Amino acid sequence: MNFINELKPYIANQYSHLPKSRYISVFILRTTQSEAIFRTEGSGEGCNREIVTNIDGQAIFRAIISKRKQIAVERREGRQLLRKHALLFTNKDKESVKDDNVCSMNRNNPCEKCIDCMLYGYAVGTGGAQKSRVMSDDAFSLLPFDLISDKKTFNALYENNTMRDPVTGKPSSSIGEDEYIVPGAHFLDIEVLKDVTETELMMVLGNIIRSKRYGAISSRIGSVKNSILGISGSDSELFSTLEWINSTDALLQKETSEHPQLESTVVECATQSIAQLIDSQICGNYYSLTTGELASTIKDIKEVYASPEQLKEKLMALTRSYPQNEGLEI
Ligand SMILES: [Zn+2]
Repeated sequence: MNFINELKPYIANQYSHLPKSRYISVFILRTTQSEAIFRTEGSGEGCNREIVTNIDGQAIFRAIISKRKQIAVERREGRQLLRKHALLFTNKDKESVKDDNVCSMNRNNPCEKCIDCMLYGYAVGTGGAQKSRVMSDDAFSLLPFDLISDKKTFNALYENNTMRDPVTGKPSSSIGEDEYIVPGAHFLDIEVLKDVTETELMMVLGNIIRSKRYGAISSRIGSVKNSILGISGSDSELFSTLEWINSTDALLQKETSEHPQLESTVVECATQSIAQLIDSQICGNYYSLTTGELASTIKDIKEVYASPEQLKEKLMALTRSYPQNEGLEI
């Protein structure tokens, strides 16, 4: 696949340690397709929310999906592919790759060689580090928290169909209500990629498109649809997720401010906001894909992912292209 020429000034030919002001912004609409619980791990508290001001300066509670949680889901999606094609390594030279030493998230053993380490970053105690080239803010809900949240019990029942242990008769210790986000809630999010190559961009987009579940208890709830509403290349960062939310919200208020908000109206307002915000804030050069170019780019990416051989070839070539991997057996 090839990204269109107008985007190429903002895409690197090859990985380099030195940044060169090339930014790709990916504008994402995340819509819950089932109930979902977005909270801080182990906090035992309700869903994440934050008080922010809207475009008129009024305080508003918006639900949030934390940036770390979103990116972690997408990284795992990509790492599964790398694992499948034996493109995760160990951090020692000439050590055979086994389950206990292979590059793994949150086990403090990044291999410093694989696409995930190079793209999403790593840091090790001994001093090695790669800054993440995928930057993101928290995703904010378009509607206020109260309009898209509710409470109920998600705990599994015992075999006797109650919350009481059929043998001991004791009530379940995990009894209680959980706060959750209702289906059909819209969140906006921007992922900004810095100095990435074509295959790295393809990988991040593939990870976003293929990720379908976010948040807690994701084997039963947390289904989310990601729609890519826009891709822009630029020589400086464009605007923040919160600015995009506020601007889209202001446009939407004229059409609908109740849940559920029609997806096509949300898409229309969010897309219009991207153009307006770039226009009013840009200090440099940029190019935004047209609707047709965006659709054909996504179609091309899907074609590569549908062809295991083609995908493997691209991922292997990218892995080999990192300077430290010269001579690495792949
Ligand atoms: Zn790695």
